[in-house]
Amino acid sequence: MKRALFEEDHEQFRELAVEFNARQIAGKYAQWEKEHQIPRDVWQSAGENGLLGLAVPEEFGGMGIDDYRFRVVLDEEFVRSGHLAVALALHLHDDLVLPYLLAYGSQDLKQRWLPRFVDGSTVTSCAFTEPGAGSDLRGVRTKAVRDGDDWLLSGQKTFIGNGAYGDAAVVLARTDGQTARAGEDAFTLFMVERSEGYSNGQPFDKMGLRASDTAELFFDEVRVSDADRIGEVGQGLAYIKEQLPQARLAIAVAASAICTAAFDQALAHAGERSAFGQALTEFQNTRFELADLKTEAHVTQSFVDRAVLAFNEGELDAQEAAEVKLWASESAKKLTDKALQIHGGYGYIMEYPIAQSFTASRLLTIFGGTSEIMRETIGRAL
Ligand SMILES: Cc1cc2nc3c(=O)[nH]c(=O)nc-3n(C[C@H](O)[C@H](O)[C@H](O)COP(=O)(O)OP(=O)(O)OC[C@H]3O[C@@H](n4cnc5c(N)ncnc54)[C@H](O)[C@@H]3O)c2cc1C
Repeated sequence: MKRALFEEDHEQFRELAVEFNARQIAGKYAQWEKEHQIPRDVWQSAGENGLLGLAVPEEFGGMGIDDYRFRVVLDEEFVRSGHLAVALALHLHDDLVLPYLLAYGSQDLKQRWLPRFVDGSTVTSCAFTEPGAGSDLRGVRTKAVRDGDDWLLSGQKTFIGNGAYGDAAVVLARTDGQTARAGEDAFTLFMVERSEGYSNGQPFDKMGLRASDTAELFFDEVRVSDADRIGEVGQGLAYIKEQLPQARLAIAVAASAICTAAFDQALAHAGERSAFGQALTEFQNTRFELADLKTEAHVTQSFVDRAVLAFNEGELDAQEAAEVKLWASESAKKLTDKALQIHGGYGYIMEYPIAQSFTASRLLTIFGGTSEIMRETIGRAL
């Protein structure tokens, strides 16, 4: 079956992504994993090559691409090359931060932030989760208090991608001045730049995606201009709900690419490796496992491709996005496990791509809303 998602423009863009992975990342990635850091010149080079902020309008320095298939191409190439942490870091910047700036930022905010977002000179994070609030964001305690024309932001966030080395974050903060359980309208989003009172912990020692930094953020009366408020006071949670389809679709896209890569890696290994005098592919069990991997990777890709086209048409709702995220992330977890088994002991060694895919996919059923929360979202709408 021919895949119908892409056209010639996408394939040309893919060549650029392939070349970027080969030139800028291959051979260096293992070192970045040790340092938990993607170097700044890579962000800048990604910017120069037009790989950041694809949806940013031309007036703010971008290309104004409103076709999500270009983001799919990028994700697929970072995953296929085994540079999964770079896919994650760019995902945070482009799929989690950018939509808020574009949809709710004032003209002034866009003018100040978007050009440096696109050229890679500013690396951004999305800071929602806190030690006491993950699935349930109404438990967020970080607060912003009015102080003249500014706000004073205080609190703590955790598990924040690009948190240790990023320059700025979209922060969800409570603005109702209360301490009792918050209502839906108790929160506001701010674009917060690193400044006095804004600090971070050391990058967490993650089981996978180690080249990307994930860290705690601390805010101690950080002064934030009201001009850096994103949208209306009290609308933070409503905006997050509106942007969930893109955030969840993006994770599904990466998960689907991981499923395809897991099949490819397992097939290659089974063809090269022999046991009992024959290639692994000669064993009926291995062939059956590979057949299942191929079929399930195809099913996942078809579902995700359909969701991408629906998103392009503005028709992917929160429930469907939850379905596609649930299916694709659970499939990536299952398929990487099976593909790793075909690798035998080599699958357990981190320098093998399948070990990287296995640990990376373990995050996908947790991050951006757990599988249980996806089921809740789908179940509630039945
Ligand atoms: C590597 C990594 C990167 C991350 N990056 C970011 C980031 O950049 N920005 C950010 O803001 N956050 C980030 N997160 C946080 C992530 O989104 C949260 O971990 C996730 O939403 C789950 O929240 P929690 O960890 O507090 O788990 P909890 O909410 O405490 O959940 C624990 C368990 O309880 C289950 N549970 C909770 N509520 C229900 C329910 N109603 N019904 C059934 N089961 C339920 C969950 O499914 C889960 O199994 C990241 C996390 C990790 C590990």
